[in-house]
Amino acid sequence: MGASVRIALEDVSYSYGRGALRKQVLFDIATRIEGGEIVILTGPSGSGKTTLLTLIGALRSAQEGSVRVLGHELLNARTKALIKVRRQIGYIFQSHNLLSSLTVGQNVRMALQLSGTRHREKKGRVASVLERVGLSEHEHKFPDQLSGGQKQRAGIARALVNRPQIVLADEPTASLDKKAGRDVVELIEELAREDGSAVILVTHDNRILDVADRILHIEDGHMKSMSEVVSEGTSRMLNLLEKHDPNAANYLATFAFALARIAYVDGVIHEDERAEMRRILMEVALLTEAEVDFIMEMSMMQGRARARIDNRIVNPAFDEERTEHFLASLHAIAQADGITTSEELIEIDTIAAEFGLTRPRDPRMN
Ligand code: ADP
Ligand code: MG
Repeated sequence: MGASVRIALEDVSYSYGRGALRKQVLFDIATRIEGGEIVILTGPSGSGKTTLLTLIGALRSAQEGSVRVLGHELLNARTKALIKVRRQIGYIFQSHNLLSSLTVGQNVRMALQLSGTRHREKKGRVASVLERVGLSEHEHKFPDQLSGGQKQRAGIARALVNRPQIVLADEPTASLDKKAGRDVVELIEELAREDGSAVILVTHDNRILDVADRILHIEDGHMKSMSEVVSEGTSRMLNLLEKHDPNAANYLATFAFALARIAYVDGVIHEDERAEMRRILMEVALLTEAEVDFIMEMSMMQGRARARIDNRIVNPAFDEERTEHFLASLHAIAQADGITTSEELIEIDTIAAEFGLTRPRDPRMN
């Protein structure tokens, strides 16, 4: 395990209950998270996110696989080791979990007291963490006197006051409105980057995914790749558009295809060119901003694939195995109507040549 790997999961499975009531909720989860990395964990309700977070946070004992956190193997670990790991983790929960009978300052201080810091240093650390989350003025208030966003900030201060190496946040924005939610997430991001902490942030909110360095998606206890998730969501939305407004779908798709061909004639598109294209689409084609976004994204994707070839850049998307799968499937598709015509073969050769892909041997020829 590399020095900066804070969390390493291998084949992690987990079940609740025993005997006939046993229910497996996590299946062979594997990932690695390094210091300074911000990972967002998404997935539908009940998919196993909280369970996974509590396993990593040493709040629940691992049953199967390997859960290595800060160099400690948590599978079959003793309680003492679990507690030691727990102390190096900052937890942020859905509801702030502040004690209502203590002030903001006292709530934060409680987290410090557990770790045995000296009195003067404690005072300074509480003040400085409250300043970092923008709550200096509110140190002596009680939680009930704060807004939802402020309470969550206090929760963040409490989680971060020990400068933990790992921060685990379970739906920290769930009870906040859009703006307050975004602010809270950006605050977690900013503080974690300053401290070099590894962060796992569970959220349902698609609008904050861009904060992440990496997104893990879990469904029914299984980890899914980002391309699967995006493809599923995108194709569902595109099918919906096609069904409800086929003309709009066709118009946008045609526009995107044509734009990719025109725009990439000279091989590259610069940032200012992109802005100019957006402006033209809105002013000349009279498209809405969302429609322009769609067309731009679709055409940029197509265009980038082409640009690699035109610039003779080795296309890293195609290793030997993928090249083989790609070309074999083009042949199979040409064959789908029962006969492969010479036009189809020429087209496949042209594509292979254009994309810089050499044709692998056809296994059926042997
Ligand atoms: P998420 O956080 O993604 O909503 P959870 O990890 O809370 O998902 O739950 C995953 C599955 O495990 C759900 O089907 C849930 O009902 C079940 N579950 C969660 N906690 C318990 C528990 N303490 N006992 C039994 N089943 C549980
Ligand atoms: Mg949950």
